[in-house]
Amino acid sequence: MATKYIFVTGGVVSSLGKGIVAASLAKLLQARGFSVAIQKLDPYINVDPDTLNPYEHGECYVTIDGAVTDLDLGHYERFLGIHTTQENNVTTGRIYQTVINNERKGEYLGKTVQVIPHITDEIKRRIQLLGTCHHYDFVITEIGGTVGDIESLPYIEAVRQLRYELGSDNALFIHLTLVPYIKAAGELKSKPTQHSVKQLLENGVQPDVLVLRTEKDLPREFRRKIALFCNVDPDAVVQSIDVPTIYEVPLMMQKEKLDEVVLKKFKLNDAPDADMEAWGQFVEKSKRPKKTVNVALVGKYVELPDAYKSILEAFIHAGVYNECKVKIHFFQSEHIDERTVSETLKDMQGIMIAPGFGERGIEGKIAAARYARENNIPFFGICLGMQCAVVEVARNVLGYKDAHSSEINPNTPHKVIDIMENQKHITNLGGTMRLGGYKCTIKEGTLAHRIYGKTEIVERHRHRFELNNEYLPELEKAGLVASGVNEQTRLVEIIEIPTHRFFIASQFHPEFQSAVLTPHPLFMGFVKAVAEISEL
Ligand code: GLN
Repeated sequence: MATKYIFVTGGVVSSLGKGIVAASLAKLLQARGFSVAIQKLDPYINVDPDTLNPYEHGECYVTIDGAVTDLDLGHYERFLGIHTTQENNVTTGRIYQTVINNERKGEYLGKTVQVIPHITDEIKRRIQLLGTCHHYDFVITEIGGTVGDIESLPYIEAVRQLRYELGSDNALFIHLTLVPYIKAAGELKSKPTQHSVKQLLENGVQPDVLVLRTEKDLPREFRRKIALFCNVDPDAVVQSIDVPTIYEVPLMMQKEKLDEVVLKKFKLNDAPDADMEAWGQFVEKSKRPKKTVNVALVGKYVELPDAYKSILEAFIHAGVYNECKVKIHFFQSEHIDERTVSETLKDMQGIMIAPGFGERGIEGKIAAARYARENNIPFFGICLGMQCAVVEVARNVLGYKDAHSSEINPNTPHKVIDIMENQKHITNLGGTMRLGGYKCTIKEGTLAHRIYGKTEIVERHRHRFELNNEYLPELEKAGLVASGVNEQTRLVEIIEIPTHRFFIASQFHPEFQSAVLTPHPLFMGFVKAVAEISEL
């Protein structure tokens, strides 16, 4: 069958969960046996979010091919259990970069380069790439931002044209809006949705399906009214009521028949039913944890949990499969020091040190790593978290009091963490770190080996600094084991302390590869160790 394109826009306000609704629809179509690609178009001018502060943007999600992307791609992967790539995230910056490079090459020779048609053509090309090169049955494209934003206009125009070119049998629009409930009047309000659809119409787009985010059940009559005023079939007005977890959204969308409505519009009436059994079991299990465990997440962006999105989701997955609720306690590393750390973290059964950049809060992270090591508390460090654990051992076991990462103190004589050789001459900051999937070989008989159950893995990276191998023999004498190494470069990818109850840290980011139906082994192992200690 020809690839079917679904364009998802949002209106009224942002943060309605467009990415989750898009991923849920993708899941339901996938569960019916279709191949589905899902893509996010971001209206900002950064080429990618690599140089953005997490406070601005939330987490930067890294794909297997080393693209630094929007965190919605994490939802896509966690829901669908697939690998996304650079093609799944397009930014205005990237579009303009391509068009400007083409202009310099002379590809538009003689022509004035303009938003229409050059920018819109490039947007269309990037949307269709997924359909034409990879032959997916469905390509779902989520347009970032809210209808009416100046920045989104070229995207809306591009998908308007695409729908015209592909025809209504091959392309459709889903528009997501908010239905506010006014408590004092006891009323649900349809006006914002009507205005939002009107705005879309001004841009030449008539939505085919409306998904209405609401905190109250929407009566049939209310939906019919919206259908009438927005020119949409009554059964194509679907409610998306608030649910306790994002993982319930696909099941709720199934109940609301979002996938059925979409298939009907495409005249695909004999599609098999969606098999959501394993997903349903996951959700059921998540509601019946046998106990709660307390894990400290020590980081410097803790005021904005979205900065640690994939980590938090990976803990949810591992918690469900370990039958416990993992309660994450955020600790601002700036507020932790050697003197107070034991008091601050005393109720925690596990400690995670989060990834990060720069000096702020680094001493607090090092103090937390020491506290975990000396008190036999399950420890899990990711990226900067591993680097802090190494610095800590160098300082407090080897006695190199000035040991540090050269990222933080370039003048220390003991750079136990140092810049990678091939990073030394890089001057551009965006997209130049060690990014994406790299192989790692695991030493047999180690904790990492028990956790993964194999010796060859591929995990995703985003860093410039590494464990300085000059110090490895000494660190190993001090009790640290390099249990995972990249064979080609000799870069140390996993460290552990075998005499400790559970002490492991990785230079890579395991959180990017945890999915609902395939939780990540490292998170599984850590949560299991935390659950065991909570029984003592
Ligand atoms: N800042 C460190 C580095 O670049 C760690 C990066 C991270 O935690 N992702 O090596």
